[in-house]
Amino acid sequence: MILILTGAPGAGKGTQADLLADRDGFRKISTGDALRNQIKKGTEIGLKASGYMSAGKLVPDDILLNVLQAEMDAVNGQKILLDGYPRNVNQAEALNKICPNGAVAGVVHLDVAREALISRLSGRRVCSQCGSSFHLTLNPPKTEGICDRCGGSLTQRPDDSLEKVAIRLDVYESETKPVLEFYKVRNLYHKVDGNQGTEDVYRQVHAHVVNFAE
Ligand code: AMP
Repeated sequence: MILILTGAPGAGKGTQADLLADRDGFRKISTGDALRNQIKKGTEIGLKASGYMSAGKLVPDDILLNVLQAEMDAVNGQKILLDGYPRNVNQAEALNKICPNGAVAGVVHLDVAREALISRLSGRRVCSQCGSSFHLTLNPPKTEGICDRCGGSLTQRPDDSLEKVAIRLDVYESETKPVLEFYKVRNLYHKVDGNQGTEDVYRQVHAHVVNFAE
């Protein structure tokens, strides 16, 4: 079964995906993480993707389909949680084609106000070693600039600058929001208020997920 976690950049998809992986046995597939890995390794896909990513734009669908297929093959037959895919209607259609009928059990939309998204993203700092995420004021590390988990140095993702955040939110409005309608008409869509604290959001997401599993 596949659970799709959707929402604007900064809505908390990654945080909730990690909780669902830890507590509910989901295997998380984050297309953003997968692309950043390809860039780190210097692969052809990474080279093709990096310009789009640092500009805050979507990477072309054919590249994403290859990335998604490879990730899905690696977690074959498990409870899968998609974080960051699909990001446009074309990708939602592609996912329907590569999955057996009914595989997508539900779509949970973390809904967060634009002002909050801007503040969350521009204050985010990420560990360059383990990928853990912090926030300058909302979730600061114990020592400034140092990861609590592994001691790695914290950096700002290049696409978290104010200028790139504005572009990413516009891309979300124009390209990803129509995906919500795609799943609404298929009765798979569920909205959660993502403006609350992490545990409150988790409780609501979890309540939906329990229903999908029945
Ligand atoms: P994320 O970590 O999910 O915020 O993704 C970071 C960046 O990776 C996005 O801004 C896009 O450039 C790219 N990306 C991730 N997932 C997708 C996708 N499904 N389609 C196109 N681009 C993607």
